[in-house]
Amino acid sequence: MTEQYAPTAADVGRMYDQSTGLLSEVMGGNIHLGYWRDGDDDASVEQATDTLTDMVAERLALSPGARVLDIGCGSGKPAVRIAGTWDVHVTGITISAQQAQTAGARPEVGEGNGQVSFLQADGMDLPFPDAHFDRVYAIESFLHMSDRATAVAEAARVLRPGGVLVAANPYQQGELTPHEAEIVADNRKLFEIPPIGDADEYAGHMAKAGLEIVEMLDIGENVRRSHTVAAALIRQAQGAGGSAFSEELSRAADIIERFGELPQIGYGLIVARRP
Ligand code: SAH
Repeated sequence: MTEQYAPTAADVGRMYDQSTGLLSEVMGGNIHLGYWRDGDDDASVEQATDTLTDMVAERLALSPGARVLDIGCGSGKPAVRIAGTWDVHVTGITISAQQAQTAGARPEVGEGNGQVSFLQADGMDLPFPDAHFDRVYAIESFLHMSDRATAVAEAARVLRPGGVLVAANPYQQGELTPHEAEIVADNRKLFEIPPIGDADEYAGHMAKAGLEIVEMLDIGENVRRSHTVAAALIRQAQGAGGSAFSEELSRAADIIERFGELPQIGYGLIVARRP
């Protein structure tokens, strides 16, 4: 039954309206997993999540002045970092009204010839003309979309020929035992995620959208620590709320931790080019 569970875009928006403050607090201002080189890497969560942003940006092959779309911009931190580091214009879209508002209130908005801007829009129905952007990236947002084929096709449509798309998402590789499937189902419910999808699914959507895959990198082992760290920080945050709130957070921390321990959960950085 749970395998069929598919949140609507509105469900995802509501979840982020409510949880963005806490999630960005425990993930260094970003709402994505962090990258650690190896077990000895002592980077903080903020450094590790920023490193992941930088890995996406490096793969975009940006030149100054490029027009870039951030699909699922979260708190806006990745867009601000990329715009500032690479001197490009980033438009961030999010399905969450709350995120569009808080990202839009960032002091960087409107600076340097309008280098960053944010609006509420659905990645499965982008409000931009064909070939409008030089580059498109989506960090942990396709994951949430119930029609990923359309989402990827929309990303390809707004990308100019010769443009590059980089997508970063957790994905599943290999079978789950019934117990493991329950853990995944709990995590999907918690974060409003349709069936998680594997590397082939993403690659298939890209090919169908007319994109050529340039690189597929699995960094599952490098991001795994994020779940344990986030769970620990959520447990710390618990003290701040009332007891019902506390119970909910404690359950969320357990789910996140168990999910992160599953070896079948990998993480793909996919780079594709529109010919
Ligand atoms: N990319 C950001 C946030 C990741 S969290 C970061 O790396 O920090 C997932 C993001 O995807 C949220 O901003 C959420 O609003 C967005 N998202 C999920 N479904 C979406 C949809 N259908 N359309 C637009 N954005 C969506």
